[in-house]
Amino acid sequence: MAIQEEMSKRRTFAIISHPDAGKTTLTETLLLFGNLIRSAGTVKGKKSGKFATSDWMEIEKQRGISVTSSVMNFNYQGLQVNILDTPGHEDFSEDTYRTLTAVDSVVMIIDATKGIEAQTKKLFKVCRMRGIPIFTFINKLDREGREPLELLEEIEEVLNIETYPMNWPAGMGKRFLGIFDRHDKQFVQFSGNEQETFIPYDDLDRPAYESLVAQEEYQLAQDEVSLLDEAGDQFSLDAVLTGEQTPVFFGSALAPFGVKTFFDTFISMAPQPGARKTTEGVVQPGNPEFSGFIFKIQANMNPAHRDRVAFLRVCSGKFERGISVKLARTGKTINLSQSQQFVASSRGTVEEAYAGDIIGIYDPNVYRIGDTLLEGKELFEYNELPKFPPEQYKRVTVKNVMKSKQFKKGIEQLVQEGAIQLFTKYKTESYIIGAVGELQFDVFKYRMQNEYNSEVVLETIGERIPRWLKDDQVDSTLFDERNMLVEDREGHYVVLFKNDFSLRWFKDKHPEIELIDLYEVN
Ligand code: GDP
Repeated sequence: MAIQEEMSKRRTFAIISHPDAGKTTLTETLLLFGNLIRSAGTVKGKKSGKFATSDWMEIEKQRGISVTSSVMNFNYQGLQVNILDTPGHEDFSEDTYRTLTAVDSVVMIIDATKGIEAQTKKLFKVCRMRGIPIFTFINKLDREGREPLELLEEIEEVLNIETYPMNWPAGMGKRFLGIFDRHDKQFVQFSGNEQETFIPYDDLDRPAYESLVAQEEYQLAQDEVSLLDEAGDQFSLDAVLTGEQTPVFFGSALAPFGVKTFFDTFISMAPQPGARKTTEGVVQPGNPEFSGFIFKIQANMNPAHRDRVAFLRVCSGKFERGISVKLARTGKTINLSQSQQFVASSRGTVEEAYAGDIIGIYDPNVYRIGDTLLEGKELFEYNELPKFPPEQYKRVTVKNVMKSKQFKKGIEQLVQEGAIQLFTKYKTESYIIGAVGELQFDVFKYRMQNEYNSEVVLETIGERIPRWLKDDQVDSTLFDERNMLVEDREGHYVVLFKNDFSLRWFKDKHPEIELIDLYEVN
């Protein structure tokens, strides 16, 4: 069946990392494999001054919105590779987390010189919570970095996941010789930029490789590999696919070195789209009826173009241009004949898409984040979008009280859309908004002004740790400005703890009060 065959070719993943670990560089190298760009160094316009990615920038030019890096796709070894961008740096927001609900696996990049960094940890937590398979690429081996064993230990300890080194580096920085590829039983020799020589283990005793084998770094690494073979964790594809073990690859995205070895192995192990849970049970990706959910809505920041694009992950069936679907939340029928864009594909509209694909659909202001669109008689909803606990909080007021009506309407809509989270301070009318990253506040402020003609004043409360309370355990006398009691949209009480210390202090003092971490219940 065509649907089965098409969806089984999809490999949909995101790359997660801390800024500067090498996500852009790795993406560029992967795009080279897909022959999508002529030379590396062109994904980020600001670096090269030009975009070789212009093929998929048409949409952006036409609409003035940034979809460029939302998803990139190419064919590789007969597979359809979909890479979703996880916005980082100053773009870090709830959208970054939500993207992780739309992928089937994740590549985590770690900078060998730095180890695990804050943003990686946050994104990793979401992957673990959802049981997403995680593949690790330890980058920048061409520089002096930390010891490989130490890096693995750090991953195991800090991230609480078993590691299995798929390859092992011999030396680092100036003394970097290459990697032992444990998976394909070969030594991949590094000889400067873009030079990789693949030597099967069996050939290593040939005279040609005598000088390589004689080097101290080689010998040491060989000993370590033997040790790993004997005493290290066993590789288990099952454990990888349930997110309990991460295969680890060493290399350099920039050289590039070890990237092909990594990608070939990754692509052979990465899962195809799987079954997904809905309110009416599990739906298989090969199910003939189309279904999918919206994980991101991008509003146009250009006032001349008020249109918005909703990003939908196809979960089953076949999407064809012009199909009629139902919006599960309302039961209304919508015809998707206009303006669907296969985001980031080779220009133009999408004619068809299958489970694993991401499509961008024109949003005439009817969609919400988390919405399910489907074909068929039955109505069900994907319960894919958990709420992510905000980390930053601000008090929000309207500048001109005469305009409180627009203010309330605007907030209401933006909150429903999932642009920001809203809380009210306990027993007051005072609004507090929460976000994962600063960008969300900027977008909120801008859209309030431009779409609802309501100028808002934001007052920083700062970073807080939210913990939900059980409804029968709310005692307002225990909280103050420091550990602030607020109510969420569903009427549940939340304490915004000032910091880790306050949280621990409170737990010690009031062990009887249960504090719920959203991450643990999602
Ligand atoms: P991103 O912020 O994660 O997208 O990181 P970039 O891909 O922009 O890389 C950040 C910096 O690290 C850039 O200056 C890259 O040239 C550099 N970089 C990336 N990969 C490597 C690598 O393998 N080796 C070295 N030496 N530098 C790298």
